Amino acid sequence: MHSRLRIIQGDITRQQADAIVNAANSSLLGGGGVDGAIHRAAGPALLAECRQLAASRGGCPTGEAVLTGAGNLPARAVIHTVGPVWRGGGQGEAELLASAYNNSLRLAAEHRFATIAFPAISTGIYGYPKAAAAAIALRTISQFLQQHDYPQQVWLVCFDEESYRLYRQHSEQSDDVG
Ligand code: ADP
Repeated sequence: MHSRLRIIQGDITRQQADAIVNAANSSLLGGGGVDGAIHRAAGPALLAECRQLAASRGGCPTGEAVLTGAGNLPARAVIHTVGPVWRGGGQGEAELLASAYNNSLRLAAEHRFATIAFPAISTGIYGYPKAAAAAIALRTISQFLQQHDYPQQVWLVCFDEESYRLYRQHSEQSDDVG
């Protein structure tokens, strides 16, 4: 695993990163899971900003990412990205999930953010199998870090024990491979 990547267990709304990533839906108007938790913790300023973005650009397509302020969160910014809904794996889900990570990282690099925290995108309500998603997250982030100086640190924030275990397992396997 890349030395600038950390796997941690916790609640992403509490992370003091330059940016935290929201697993949003394409309307940008809020939802359940981590999206709901981020909006609850950030307060109404975040929803107001998301509503403006939804009106001006019609939301956010799957695989893309947009940046907002962070309201009352300890982070400085929120990067909203939309992961794919799992439909069996034959609908480009893997590429779209990698794009969600890559486009979020690209925004962080453009803004010279030192730290960015990710949840396990698509692995909740969107149903992406957790082990496959963990492998894509680790591979995509590691590749990006090899090619870019920013963000300097990436935190993978696991809310549940299973995601934490899978990330650790996959990171050890990729270390074995080299
Ligand atoms: P999606 O719709 O992209 O599947 P979800 O929010 O349903 O998004 O779930 C994505 C992941 O976020 C899940 O693994 C879930 O356990 C995790 N999650 C939920 N709440 C939090 C939180 N407060 N901090 C970090 N991760 C969270």
